[in-house]
Amino acid sequence: MKEAKETKQNSEPKLTRQREAVFQVILERDDHPTASDIFEAARQRLPGISYATVYNSLRYLKEAGLVLEISFGDSASRYDRETGRHDHAICNCCGKLVDFDLPEAAKLMQAAAQKSHFKAQSVHLTLRGHCPDCRDDS
Ligand code: ZN
Ligand code: MN
Repeated sequence: MKEAKETKQNSEPKLTRQREAVFQVILERDDHPTASDIFEAARQRLPGISYATVYNSLRYLKEAGLVLEISFGDSASRYDRETGRHDHAICNCCGKLVDFDLPEAAKLMQAAAQKSHFKAQSVHLTLRGHCPDCRDDS
């Protein structure tokens, strides 16, 4: 019997130290950090890491399907450790971004596909408004 080499048999791709640090930062947070948030936190782990490296790592992790990028036309993208389908609510006041899951989204997707004549692949709802800390209707 041949000696198996000491390689880890997990399915995750092998990450460089920098990519691993960036990935860990995202895994530890549930607040959908921006690239700058991630850069600040990654610097605590790897003091020499540059913003460009963080940015490139984010692109790599996204393309590898390990993290999700939530992009908004007008403001900075946010990064999400949860890669399965889910919906988001974002606060127009403080920028808080939270998860929710609306099971009815599947039905909405069918209706939207009919209206647009598109073949639907995915649907993602973004609720914009004021979060519980920012709403002033108390
Ligand atoms: Zn808020
Ligand atoms: Mn999310």
